[in-house]
Amino acid sequence: PPVYEQRYYFVKNLVNQHGHKKIADLGFGDATLLWMLKYHRCVQYLVGVDIAAKPFEWGGGRLSPGVGSYIIPRELDLTITLYRGSAVQKDSRLCGFDLITCIELIEHLDSEDLAKFPEVVFGYFSPGMVVISTPNSEFNPLFPASTFRDPDHRFEWNRKQFQMWALDVAKLYHYSVEFSGVGDPPAGAEHVGYCTQIGVFQKNSTKPTELSISEPEEHVYEVVSFLWE
Ligand code: SAM
Repeated sequence: PPVYEQRYYFVKNLVNQHGHKKIADLGFGDATLLWMLKYHRCVQYLVGVDIAAKPFEWGGGRLSPGVGSYIIPRELDLTITLYRGSAVQKDSRLCGFDLITCIELIEHLDSEDLAKFPEVVFGYFSPGMVVISTPNSEFNPLFPASTFRDPDHRFEWNRKQFQMWALDVAKLYHYSVEFSGVGDPPAGAEHVGYCTQIGVFQKNSTKPTELSISEPEEHVYEVVSFLWE
């Protein structure tokens, strides 16, 4: 399968392994990953956040109840909320998730937003697990044009750059991180590593974080779609 699909399958495998109930996808794009995750029986809350989020149309929208949900009734209800907002803005409705995914998001953040990102996602949202994927620039010479893969990318990191950033973030917010990736290099070019590099961060304390009473509710994101099935 193409690399973008391999990224989604990487997340699906993690959800299968861990049985996450509440999942948020930051920078959900065309919502393909959310759409794939809604068929997992363990999932009860799916949230998408994107600065360019558009409302889903019932009927035409991919997230509306699938035929499958009528044929095989779900044991648990599923709620899907799509928000328009930025991954570097705090919104208390994103706190306390089992998993937050950021698939090909961070390379779109300018240096100011990238600096805010760890405090918001790890410090404030503080989910049990975070998955971050980003291009591995060491793979780029294998592409015909060796510039950035997308004109909107603000940076593309090699493995060392990503791992140093990720290890710093993990240490600061008490997570452990494991590195992986998808998109195998062709034979003879194994030294460049995966096309997409992925960090899987797991929170060290097993204690579920609850919003403390003193912490005020902050609703900054705009709801663009709310679906329930
Ligand atoms: N995650 C999707 C995927 O893998 O197919 C989409 C990846 S696309 C390369 C990057 C997405 O991030 C776009 O949908 C863009 O609108 C969104 N985005 C960029 N900056 C963002 C920000 N600060 N907060 C939330 N979303 C953002």
